[in-house]
Amino acid sequence: MSYATWSDVRGHSAQIGVLQRICASAQPAHAYLFEGPDGVGKQMVAWALAARIACEAPTADQAACGECRSCHSLQRGEHPDLKVLKKDGASIRIGQVRDALKPLRFEPVLGRAKVLIVDDAHLLREEAANALLKTLEEPPSRTHFILVTSRAQLLLSTIRSRSQVVRFAELDTQDVAAVLLAEDQPADLVAMAAPLAEGSVVRGRTLCDPDWLAAIDRLVRFVLGLGAGNPLRIGDAVAGLGGTLDGLSLQISPEQQPMVAAPTASISEAKALAQAEKKGRSAPKKLASKPESGTRLKGLDRVGLSWALDVTTTVLRDAMLVATGMDPDEVPLSRHAEGLLNMRDRTHAAAIAKAIDACLATEASLVLNPNPRLALEATWLEVDRAIRHA
Ligand SMILES: [Zn+2]
Repeated sequence: MSYATWSDVRGHSAQIGVLQRICASAQPAHAYLFEGPDGVGKQMVAWALAARIACEAPTADQAACGECRSCHSLQRGEHPDLKVLKKDGASIRIGQVRDALKPLRFEPVLGRAKVLIVDDAHLLREEAANALLKTLEEPPSRTHFILVTSRAQLLLSTIRSRSQVVRFAELDTQDVAAVLLAEDQPADLVAMAAPLAEGSVVRGRTLCDPDWLAAIDRLVRFVLGLGAGNPLRIGDAVAGLGGTLDGLSLQISPEQQPMVAAPTASISEAKALAQAEKKGRSAPKKLASKPESGTRLKGLDRVGLSWALDVTTTVLRDAMLVATGMDPDEVPLSRHAEGLLNMRDRTHAAAIAKAIDACLATEASLVLNPNPRLALEATWLEVDRAIRHA
């Protein structure tokens, strides 16, 4: 249980604005579904909304006051009316749902309302989801549900249709950086990690690690040297990268997970995915169990390939900014200003654009499950050629 108010949240101002207007104008809905990528702050928004719903004296901007009995008990982590339902192991079981629903039949202890936050709602097992659905269909008065998920396509469509959906997007690089800095991560690590975090604080936090920093630095220097040295060393670099990445842990998004369904993926998850695809809804192309605190890389595997392509594209984008006149001290990878200037002096923006296209083409082909080593080597050779022949 954690206390938060709107001002604790970075980004998502449109979503917060909508929630504030709803709180100001009427009773909040019985059920909200917060969907969007992992690690962008959906849970914090959920806690801020829950705190506001339960607060006895909300502020003018529809935030929890921080002073009333409700706010104080939430701050102490012992609010009798605000509960969170989390996975137990790999899923949320029906027994947990029943236990969480039971107290909702009674009046709120502190007066205003009861709120149940369901984290990782896509992990509700089928029978658990059905039990929750029954309550969503006939919610007890003064009861609110906030379902939070990064994989909404795996939820029962009936749960979705009973909820007011709030969609969250990736955070800006600046917002990721601000959150990491507020957590006292070292500024030089944050400067490297934030642009590669894909809008996720969780992923950014994983990258704020000296081992990752060393791997990133080495790779950035290598990419900035493409088109200048002997292209034959590209094969060696690919082999060396495998050794560097081996054993490092990375928080990855569902889209980057291996193509083949992992044995731990549940049958209902696979079914839901197949259904979503049949209906033409956007479903992830790949399916696997969700990593807990990150996936440990096995040399240059597909996750490593995706990461190396991300870094390469990020470096080339910064090189493009510098090639079109931006001060290298102003770009996210400013610590590599010298390398960026060096690349600017021997190529031009059109060549860098061509090199970026090569990376994006490989990224798009990841669904075809290419051999990571060959795919990366071919991409870097193309980048090298584009920059060399500028
Ligand atoms: Zn309050």
